[in-house]
Amino acid sequence: MMGSDKMLQRIEKSFALSLNDMRKIIKDFHAEMRNGLLRQKSSLKMIPTYVNIPAGNEKGRFIALDLGGTNFRILKLELMGKGKIGDLKARKFVLDKKHITGKGKNLFDFVARCIKVFMKKEKMSYDEKMPIGFTFSFPVEQTGIASGHLLRWTKGFSARGVIGMDVVKLLEKALDGEGISNIKVSALVNDTVGTIAARGYENRNCDVGVIIGTGTNGCYVENQMIINIEWGNFNKLKRTSYDMQLDKESDNRGSQILEKMVSGMYLGEISRLILEDLVRKKTLFRKSPPSIIFAKKYSLKTEYMSIIESDSSPNLSRTNMLLRRLGISKSSLEERKLVKKICGMVSRRASRISAAAIAAVVTKMDSNLYRKHIVAIDGSLYEKHPHFSKNIKSALREIFGRKTNRIDMMLTKDGSGKGAAVIAAITAKVEEDAAE
Ligand code: ADP
Ligand code: MG
Repeated sequence: MMGSDKMLQRIEKSFALSLNDMRKIIKDFHAEMRNGLLRQKSSLKMIPTYVNIPAGNEKGRFIALDLGGTNFRILKLELMGKGKIGDLKARKFVLDKKHITGKGKNLFDFVARCIKVFMKKEKMSYDEKMPIGFTFSFPVEQTGIASGHLLRWTKGFSARGVIGMDVVKLLEKALDGEGISNIKVSALVNDTVGTIAARGYENRNCDVGVIIGTGTNGCYVENQMIINIEWGNFNKLKRTSYDMQLDKESDNRGSQILEKMVSGMYLGEISRLILEDLVRKKTLFRKSPPSIIFAKKYSLKTEYMSIIESDSSPNLSRTNMLLRRLGISKSSLEERKLVKKICGMVSRRASRISAAAIAAVVTKMDSNLYRKHIVAIDGSLYEKHPHFSKNIKSALREIFGRKTNRIDMMLTKDGSGKGAAVIAAITAKVEEDAAE
């Protein structure tokens, strides 16, 4: 293994993110946020959402749709007021490749058909008026609370004929096609905004919403309005050759740079690219050259990193099992330790970039942390990875010292669904008030 120590050291160094690096990110983030708000050149879109944090007294029965990740979900729920949610029914539908990358019409027709199935199952009538909150987690330039056009696809979506279109109109057209006319989209919501609203419904100190799942993004409150930052596209970051390679081979080259270093869709692939490089340089898996499976892009899932990084068995036997599944039949303990180390480097950097982004957003609102801030956060990577949330916390502590306790990170599961209903309720209420 001559030279491999040196090589590893070099890789380690290139993935390290010091306190100074994080401070630099925060500074650049602030500059990009300001430029974005002023509609000047910026990697951050800073999209106004036309909604504020809920009051907590919203009531009624609503449907919420959650489209924009691995699954499509439908929820039916009752808001009881006082920040309480009553009866909740949810159903998940798996999105096929043909919905994600085919014709846009396929995608929206599928969504409408799922809604029909759901309505039947829940014995819902076709007469009762029912507002929906539509969570659509892609960069959308909103033109109002219930309208907005898609700016670009992210997270591997590429359905044709949707960019530039009003996604609410596309959905309503598809619902029409299924003969559903009692359901009206009353709010178009980003998943970060759903998450902030779901937490905000019960606690008005919540002023940041974050997603760390398939993709990553954040939102916050500025002048009484929630701003969708679209932070996945932030690009003032020091990248390694592996990041460049991943970007080059992606279908949205040059965009979503931060997302490609942080989110669940990509972390496994970064790790795989490093390991592949080490194999090529003959420092890894010399006893068993990795098979076709390992060579396949995105074969190392971010879920596997969680398993590897929490493997504390003396022989790293769970890691061994996963490596076998990837077609590496024989590995030494040393090699498995190296794999674990590399996964740790990649996830640690991701959590520190996330921490810097969160710190930037909080200090944009309150530069000296005079107040308490609740950060509502959702996404499976944050929730399930063994060290991600811990690493964010300790990075925040490095940045803020004792003042870190003014930032309360709260896992807000299903926020994108519940929050969309809350926002639909706000809109319904505004409409009612206007009609009086
Ligand atoms: P979405 O972002 O699609 O709405 P999730 O928040 O559930 O949905 O995120 C799903 C993504 O999170 C997966 O694509 C995967 O990359 C990542 N993920 C899921 N489970 C784990 C896990 N146990 N450890 C690490 N990452 C995970
Ligand atoms: Mg989601």
